Amino acid sequence: MLIGTILRSKGSEVTTVSPAATVRELLARLAEHNIGAVVVSTDGVTIEGIVSERDVVRRLHDRGAEVLDAPVSAIMTTEVTTVGPDANVDSLRRTMTTQRFRHVPVVDGDRLVGIVSIGDVVKSAIEELETEKASLVDYLHR
Ligand code: AMP
Repeated sequence: MLIGTILRSKGSEVTTVSPAATVRELLARLAEHNIGAVVVSTDGVTIEGIVSERDVVRRLHDRGAEVLDAPVSAIMTTEVTTVGPDANVDSLRRTMTTQRFRHVPVVDGDRLVGIVSIGDVVKSAIEELETEKASLVDYLHR
């Protein structure tokens, strides 16, 4: 399955946060949308970083509650791995597993057009297995 196929069913909405927003504002965004990571972008289309709940937990442990008033830019990851809509989900699953992150922004050229989470990847794998199982059962009962 292609990444673009996942986006067609889940939609292309991506929650972003400005690098100047505070970590406290970031937490509100994560809670409000019930998500684990947001793309950091000033204009909503150019990626400046990514920040996940894991970054907040780690910095809270290192620096204490003062990190809540720091800007998102102080805790975000700036080297962001992205994927194109034409990439294959299987290869993205391998990348997420080896690099140990659960979110990958989807870009078309330089433009942010979606985000895929490990949950989306697992869901697509289950759907493929169910389709395969149904056709095998159909074949056996013919
Ligand atoms: P996550 O598993 O998404 O909570 O992220 C774990 C760590 O990887 C955090 O430090 C994130 O900032 C970072 N991270 C998440 N997604 C990406 C990505 N696509 N490229 C690079 N780093 C990422």
